[in-house]
Amino acid sequence: MNVAFKKPASSARSLDSIAEALLLPTGIDGVYARTAAFEQVVNCLSNLISRYREPEMEVLRFPPVMSRRQLEKSGYLKNFPHFLGCVSCLAGNEAEIGAAVERHEAGGDWASQLSAVDLVLSPAACYPIYPLVASRGQVPAAGLVFDVACDCFRREPSKLLDRLQSFRMREYVSIGTPKQVEEFRRRWMTRAQGFAEQLGLTYRIDQASDPFFGRGRKLMATSQLEQALKFELLVPVHSAEQPTACMSFNNHRDHFGATWSLCTEAGEVAHTACVAFGIDRLALALFATHGLDLPHWPVAVRKALTV
Ligand code: AMP
Ligand code: ZN
Repeated sequence: MNVAFKKPASSARSLDSIAEALLLPTGIDGVYARTAAFEQVVNCLSNLISRYREPEMEVLRFPPVMSRRQLEKSGYLKNFPHFLGCVSCLAGNEAEIGAAVERHEAGGDWASQLSAVDLVLSPAACYPIYPLVASRGQVPAAGLVFDVACDCFRREPSKLLDRLQSFRMREYVSIGTPKQVEEFRRRWMTRAQGFAEQLGLTYRIDQASDPFFGRGRKLMATSQLEQALKFELLVPVHSAEQPTACMSFNNHRDHFGATWSLCTEAGEVAHTACVAFGIDRLALALFATHGLDLPHWPVAVRKALTV
């Protein structure tokens, strides 16, 4: 599905020129205060995504932190350690913690007293669902579908407004047979095109690979491409040459099924797939495409978003 952009990209605004009305600097790259205008669009987008939800989907909202052990077991530490943020807290007895605070007050370092706890910052919304479903027993014959979301963290500081360290992700997830999950992914790739068109966004869907860590990165990425495990919906937020991935469509095959002993009713290892909506990127794409003035956005787009 490597096709040219649907719709010309000529209407795109420069993001820099509209940044100050949307995302205010906090002093840390990739971490912003979101303005009311930005949040209005985020809320409308979330509601529109909910209207696309399949009736069978179970809705779960996860906190921005998750079990460190679960994320390690999921393979994230091996594949993406460079993105991972871990929660650490002051460790020790009252005297040791007090000494760290005093060091800080005297202009010294207190962080050396930090110790990693059993939590990490969630890097994607779907990781906690697989162990949770596995704890419920077998996956029924019809398969299972979920609507999940959380605030995500990835340590990729950047000056670019669409590359955040802290961002919101919504995901639709399928767990079932290989056929069920691939059909799920395919139907969402079709639906996503209708979704982007409703929003008046220029887009194309293309194959992609994840930014794996370490020496094996090339091999992993090539294998992911060869098996067509990842597609992205790309929107020219900055430029048509370097479009921004606003959604992804992932088939994990039996990775999470095998990790968590997720079994189908037939006793096979379950397959999983997920469709991710990058909420902040989609909102930015809307502003970049239609401008800052919501009342002057195309009528059809406003109707879709009910703004
Ligand atoms: P991924 O799991 O990498 O496919 O990410 C799912 C979606 O999250 C992407 O398609 C983006 O829309 C969004 N996303 C990923 N990384 C970032 C980031 N650093 N800043 C903002 N959005 C992101
Ligand atoms: Zn996912």
